[in-house]
Amino acid sequence: MIQVVEGDITLLDVDAIVNAANESLLGGGGVDGAIHRRAGPMLVEECRTLGGARPGEAKMTGGYNLKARQVIHAVGPVFYGGRRGEPELLASCYRNALALADRHGLRSIAFPAISTGAYGYPIDAAAQIAVREARAFEKTHPEVRIVFCCFSPRDAGIYRRYLAS
Ligand code: ADP
Repeated sequence: MIQVVEGDITLLDVDAIVNAANESLLGGGGVDGAIHRRAGPMLVEECRTLGGARPGEAKMTGGYNLKARQVIHAVGPVFYGGRRGEPELLASCYRNALALADRHGLRSIAFPAISTGAYGYPIDAAAQIAVREARAFEKTHPEVRIVFCCFSPRDAGIYRRYLAS
């Protein structure tokens, strides 16, 4: 099942929320900052043990004070125009996060629009990739609930359009 919701991903009651992290995995602005603030300082403590991650990779931690049981920290690509492997790296974020969730038996996972804030990825192209990867995963894992958590009605509309097509 694939759903689109509008709002703050840090409030969702799911097995895992995905963080649009940076390579340090030690927190930052945007959704990353919001997740760390609500999870509390134990999150960055655990993140320090992970040794960072490269674009396209995903690593999991506990959720601490979040409702979500786990946080999957995925590093999106910075968008430089789209010819530096950005589409493949963004797709890897979704694939690796979903594979990690599957390996741990998680049944629900929520994604923000990775890379579409400070990292500059156009929302339209990013949403298309996210929906494509979610659909590919759904074929073999129909029991997992995938939520796209959009921070604006406009973004939600774009996801809904791709999901309907
Ligand atoms: P990146 O550096 O990967 O671009 P950002 O956090 O800057 O990450 O933005 C990624 C997306 O997350 C943007 O669409 C932004 O609007 C959205 N966002 C920011 N805060 C939240 C939040 N609390 N819940 C859900 N989405 C959020």
